Amino acid sequence: MTSVAQEAWFTEPALTRILSVLNRDGGQARVVGGAIRNTLMGLPVGDIDIATTLLPQDVIERAKEAGVKAVPTGIEHGTVTLVIDGRGYEVTTLRRDVETDGRHARVAFGTDWTADAERRDLTINALYASADGNVIDLVGGLADLETRTVRFIGDAATRIAEDYLRVLRFFRFFAYYGSGRPDADGLRASARAKDKLNTLSAERIWAETKKLLAAADPSRALLWMRQTGVLTEILPETEKWGIDAIHGLVQTEQALGWTPDPLLRLAAMVPPDAERLDGMAKRLRLSNADAARLQEWAKAPVLPDEVTDVGFDRLLYQHGATGLSMRIRLALAGARAAAEGDPLAMRKVARLTVLLERCDRYRKPVFPMSGADVLAAGVPAGKRVGEVLAALETFWVERNFSLDRAALTIRLEELARNNS
Ligand code: ATP
Ligand code: MG
Repeated sequence: MTSVAQEAWFTEPALTRILSVLNRDGGQARVVGGAIRNTLMGLPVGDIDIATTLLPQDVIERAKEAGVKAVPTGIEHGTVTLVIDGRGYEVTTLRRDVETDGRHARVAFGTDWTADAERRDLTINALYASADGNVIDLVGGLADLETRTVRFIGDAATRIAEDYLRVLRFFRFFAYYGSGRPDADGLRASARAKDKLNTLSAERIWAETKKLLAAADPSRALLWMRQTGVLTEILPETEKWGIDAIHGLVQTEQALGWTPDPLLRLAAMVPPDAERLDGMAKRLRLSNADAARLQEWAKAPVLPDEVTDVGFDRLLYQHGATGLSMRIRLALAGARAAAEGDPLAMRKVARLTVLLERCDRYRKPVFPMSGADVLAAGVPAGKRVGEVLAALETFWVERNFSLDRAALTIRLEELARNNS
């Protein structure tokens, strides 16, 4: 029998305590989902989710009696979070779907483990571990884990029609855990459901897409998303550009030890067109930070072929390092993909590598002069002050940011004389 009893996370006193509080006096509770899946795949375990036959109110009461903090984080769909030593465990009452409309499900609480398993999306996500650590498989999840098959529980088309987000979850879980080709029924059903994706909220679509783009290697999943038309449906901006650059980007990330960056992967598939990206950010409701990063990338200058260190420092000063760093990373990935046996591309790789280091180390120098200095030099208050200050700053930039206040004051006095 497959067991997780020896796993460090499973033997933590906090989890043992929760399971023992819930598994008595007619109650049953099991760990479910990602924790079991990842353990059996040898991957790190993130959140620990627990399913129980007890009603949410009873979970809260038992927690209180045992002195465990209970937070009703999602009480209407049956979720109570138990907190021990700052760590949260989501405890959800067994459910069965009463009614679904592709976006929301009305659920009823129940005590039937099979019904609870069958309303989950994928077989690999519906494995349970009871309090003794034994793994319980009600839908064939273990066999699919072994072959890394990402498969819907039941009929793919039916399961997708209950919640269209499952199309994206199918590809996301394939990106993380799948191998070979995605399950054919799931692919076909996803392709057929693609024009229903626009009924989902933008937040759900983007959250799911961003998770997919954060996978160690999302390139095969993206290929199948493109093949089925799903990618174009959610990201029409990728239509012309395509996903050819993704593979090279992932290889470069792995070779150079870059952390997977979902926005950089996105940037590899869309044109650097500030206006279109602004439209995309609004449509998908990206966070302000994500939207701003994409804008910085789109507005960053294309690097001149033979840019010098000095010239590059000027670009950094004008445009900032964020967008340029993304530009260089993509250019570097492209050049590395082309570099094999091509001496010109190899030179480009070497140069871009140097520039990237410079970019990532960059601290913007502070211009040491201000409007007050210009006034003190005798320029009368008004529009002139800004013009003189700008001319002085250009002078400083052109001398590679090396002049100090004393040197700049001499130049300022010249400018002030010429301007009066
Ligand atoms: P991770 O948290 O590592 O992304 P997970 O498997 O815990 O993976 P969650 O999105 O946290 O995934 O969901 C927890 C469980 O709830 C899933 O394993 C799955 O069984 C079920 N689930 C989540 N979303 C859906 C959905 N849209 N349709 C059906 N079941 C779902
Ligand atoms: Mg989870």
